[in-house]
Amino acid sequence: MSSSIKQPNAITCKAAVAWGAGEAMVMQEVEVSPPHPQEIRIKVVTTSLCRSDLSALDSHAIFPRIFGHEASGIVESIGKGVTEFQEGDHVLTVFTGECKTCRQCMSGKSNMCQVLGLERRGVMHSDQGTRFSINGKPVYHYCAVSSFSEYTVVHTGCAVKVSSAAPLEKICLLSCGLAAGLGAAWNVADISKGSTVVIFGLGTVGLSVAQGARIRGASQIIGVDTNPEKCDKAKDFGITEFINPNDCNEPIQQVIKRITDGGADYSFECIGDTGMITTALQSCCDGWGLTVTLGVPKVKPEVTAHYGLFLSGRTLKGSLFGGWKPKSDLPSLVDMYMNKEIQIDEFITHNLPFEEINKAFELMREGKCLRCVIHMPK
Ligand SMILES: [Zn+2]
Ligand SMILES: [Zn+2]
Repeated sequence: MSSSIKQPNAITCKAAVAWGAGEAMVMQEVEVSPPHPQEIRIKVVTTSLCRSDLSALDSHAIFPRIFGHEASGIVESIGKGVTEFQEGDHVLTVFTGECKTCRQCMSGKSNMCQVLGLERRGVMHSDQGTRFSINGKPVYHYCAVSSFSEYTVVHTGCAVKVSSAAPLEKICLLSCGLAAGLGAAWNVADISKGSTVVIFGLGTVGLSVAQGARIRGASQIIGVDTNPEKCDKAKDFGITEFINPNDCNEPIQQVIKRITDGGADYSFECIGDTGMITTALQSCCDGWGLTVTLGVPKVKPEVTAHYGLFLSGRTLKGSLFGGWKPKSDLPSLVDMYMNKEIQIDEFITHNLPFEEINKAFELMREGKCLRCVIHMPK
């Protein structure tokens, strides 16, 4: 039967190719191979820019490379053995996959898939090869997603089928940052009603934590950011008090302890500064204070904190992608959006055509956007 199935050909299309650290990407033609077994080729519809694309562009040594990991699209063709997807299915890509068979996937306790986890070497999980090339030379992937291309190939475990009724240009935000914040609030911290929450860093992830805290009924949601422009926007997502540490005459943890009667129930580090983790722990209360770390540090990955902070009952917790098992859990977040139970549209501050992708990077570098959605040509 399989012999009668038409084998897809390679596609030549436009991609934004990164050639060097910190350099503008070059819009050029790349060849996208057909999907291998258990892979699908996707026509990308929209892709939003996440901070880790920018951090990776600025620091990584693997070039040439196609970045992009927060995306939505439509299945263009399927590889051998694929039964879960068919041409025309609407999908979200995910940077950390779910194989559904490894110890972690089977545990019910974790989303740290051992087979399709975060890919750091710029290749596909299955064969350590690339699906992109220019004149026969490989172009590397990013997180095995690489959505800054009109077409991309992903493993079936790194794509999530979603309702075709959901607007792809909005729900692409659930592919990374927005889901990560909600998951940190709901799965990792499990915020309870009436509790006090402090969030360090009010980008998309931090504001998504705020949204999650508000939905859980937190009574006080304190946002901390050194950018005064974040204040107004923050209130839209549930922040009840905005504090700019530069306006304070005392250490920020003292301010928080004072206004929360001894420390918050939960604190979230969404900046990616390991030095702030101590401050976040100090801002929590004795006994049950919980600090969740979400930021990815650009420098100094080691965490140092006085043991007394733990002796007095605090907990420090980490997670990737808010603890969501992407394939099992993302469709329910899409449903919540369709039922108006979570906000997505308000995070989209800019929309740009694909050709202007470098402008999106500039907006993020300057701290001028929450999410910039990049629209592929129709
Ligand atoms: Zn991301
Ligand atoms: Zn797995």
